[in-house]
Amino acid sequence: MLTAITGINWGDEGKGRMVDLLSETYDIVVRYQGGNNAGHTVVNARGKFILNLLPSGILRDDVVNVMGNGMVIDLEHLVHEIEKLRAGGIAISPANLKISDRAVICMPYHKLLDCYEEDRLADAKYGSTRRGIAPVYGDKYMKKGIRMGDLFHPASLKKRVEELTAFKNLTIVGVYGKEPVKAEDMWAWLCEFGDVLKPYICDAGLYLDAAAKSGKNIMFEAQLGALRDIDFGIYPFTSSSNVIGAYAPVGAGIPNHKIDLNIGIMKAYSSCVGEGPFTCELFGKEAEELRKAGGECGAATGRPRRVGPFDVVASRYGCRTQGADEIALTKLDILDTLENIPVTVAYELDGKQITEFPYGDALEIAKPVNISMKGWKKDLSGCRKKEDLPKEAADYIAFIEKSVGVKIKYVSVGAERDAYIVL
Ligand code: GDP
Repeated sequence: MLTAITGINWGDEGKGRMVDLLSETYDIVVRYQGGNNAGHTVVNARGKFILNLLPSGILRDDVVNVMGNGMVIDLEHLVHEIEKLRAGGIAISPANLKISDRAVICMPYHKLLDCYEEDRLADAKYGSTRRGIAPVYGDKYMKKGIRMGDLFHPASLKKRVEELTAFKNLTIVGVYGKEPVKAEDMWAWLCEFGDVLKPYICDAGLYLDAAAKSGKNIMFEAQLGALRDIDFGIYPFTSSSNVIGAYAPVGAGIPNHKIDLNIGIMKAYSSCVGEGPFTCELFGKEAEELRKAGGECGAATGRPRRVGPFDVVASRYGCRTQGADEIALTKLDILDTLENIPVTVAYELDGKQITEFPYGDALEIAKPVNISMKGWKKDLSGCRKKEDLPKEAADYIAFIEKSVGVKIKYVSVGAERDAYIVL
């Protein structure tokens, strides 16, 4: 069984939490894109963990975790993330963590370039996490990348580091007027952190292909939501890779396999960290209440997230681009205290109501068309079965399900592993 856990919205839907829960019957969890620019927060019996690069399956002893070729990896960040988890009692060894030899290394100069460019853009910034992700993906496609497997070929890698550093300095010095980076520093960095990670590097595609053929259950974990996909999201305020489920087999290293099930993780209201159009956005007191109730600060950056009502237009588009077969609706408990719950059911654009997610600039000028649903004003965090839900909460779920046209199978009512309902 090959299952993708994907995000329907702008990210931060609680994918990590659902992977942690649903991976119980899985043998392998794979991250297939992105780097340490996003973070999954997982709360279970062992504590609270923030994962930036490691797949969320790392918190289960019997799950093998794979970091796929579609990822970009900051070696230093990964080494520290592993150390932190180990200090929290999580066992990590080459037996339960495998890193693709084809994953691209996010170098210190990528981080620098990310910062220099965001600073140059000033108020027009893209809202980058400044972790080097766009520059490293740019280099990947310019064929100027260094891959994990290159660490095993020091002679040719050393030469390549010299060439690439000279190439990057053309931009660092010539465009941004900053101090050049030194090839020997880049080499020392690669040796220091690369040596620690070498035992984990392998042909992940070969491993996963054999695993899939022998009937293992494999889960693919997306890092961000559909609206941040480089092709289908709110470009250019997107991530720099394909986050959608269709890309999972490619980014994992098994393009010859198909996903059997795509579980879309969808949030009961909207949130968006960083820049870009967010048509359903709430402001003022209403926004502050929701932000506080939802603890809406980015796991990777700590930035306060922008919030809004559940957005039918954007979520239906998210379900379509993901090809979601079923939905896990998360954070329903956050709405517990609201007297009335707004829902964005359409956008108004040029005096007309539209229900299909529009392109580009239209998103900036579109206005949300909101309806109001009756709140349940009860604490849902203890609900464990459908019958426990107040009528208003059941109505809200049914309305959302009908609006997006995909079956809601799970409802999550708390951050803890067991705080969920199967419908
Ligand atoms: P991800 O990147 O999609 O994994 O999401 P994040 O980890 O950035 O954000 C989700 C946050 O919501 C985390 O802090 C989770 O612990 C928390 N969370 C997930 N599901 C629920 C839920 O149903 N209720 C509540 N109250 N918190 C949740």
